[in-house]
Amino acid sequence: MDGDAAGGMGEADRRAIEQRLALGGPIRPRSPEDFDSSYSTRPPWDIDKPQPVFAALADTGELVGRVLDVGCGTGEHVLMASARGCEATGIDLAAVAIERAEVKARERGLSARFLVHDALDLGSLDGPFETVLDSGLFHVLDDADRIRFVDGLRVVTVVGGRYHMLCFSDRQSGDWGPRRVREVEIRQCFSSGWHVDSIEPVYFETNLDPYRAHAWHSTITRA
Ligand code: SAH
Repeated sequence: MDGDAAGGMGEADRRAIEQRLALGGPIRPRSPEDFDSSYSTRPPWDIDKPQPVFAALADTGELVGRVLDVGCGTGEHVLMASARGCEATGIDLAAVAIERAEVKARERGLSARFLVHDALDLGSLDGPFETVLDSGLFHVLDDADRIRFVDGLRVVTVVGGRYHMLCFSDRQSGDWGPRRVREVEIRQCFSSGWHVDSIEPVYFETNLDPYRAHAWHSTITRA
């Protein structure tokens, strides 16, 4: 029987399910190769504007000094920082995303630095940075990689510098999308050499339907 005619799954539902399948499951962290290929179409997190939570940071003057965006994707947060007068660098493993970010920078007449670089090797970046942004990177890392990432982050962040992280939250139901993160896991990862200033329940915007997902916004200062 035709599902649509029976009032079953419509085209929009089907599209939403396909998009969610494209996001993968929540448990298995996705590989760099997965990410490069996910940019062959528009991935669900690529919303052509900053995440509202990070836009608010810019509005309240939280983007200071040299800004690094880890896992910057197509660069909206880097370009936002650059537009606010910051010296901004974005890194991502997906070369396709970095190319798109560079095109956007040229089109908008903004100067920013975009590098294909592994966030698990932050120590080799020419830091230090006063502000580090992470929208959707931390939640793709498995437990071992979280440790490597935070070790490198410690090296490139100045003492007193701030790391702002937006990750999927365990408050989000369902099993689609990235790994859910619990507040206690964030506190554990940043228990040494950092001060966790706040972990707020917020939303990630996506281009899916429904478009919002539960997230945590963590503000963490390098001690
Ligand atoms: N911050 C962007 C992209 C979020 S999706 C945005 O808000 O739109 C997560 C990004 O992390 C992807 O672009 C993916 O390619 C990148 N990524 C995943 N693992 C990475 C790693 N080890 N090093 C650098 N980037 C990585």
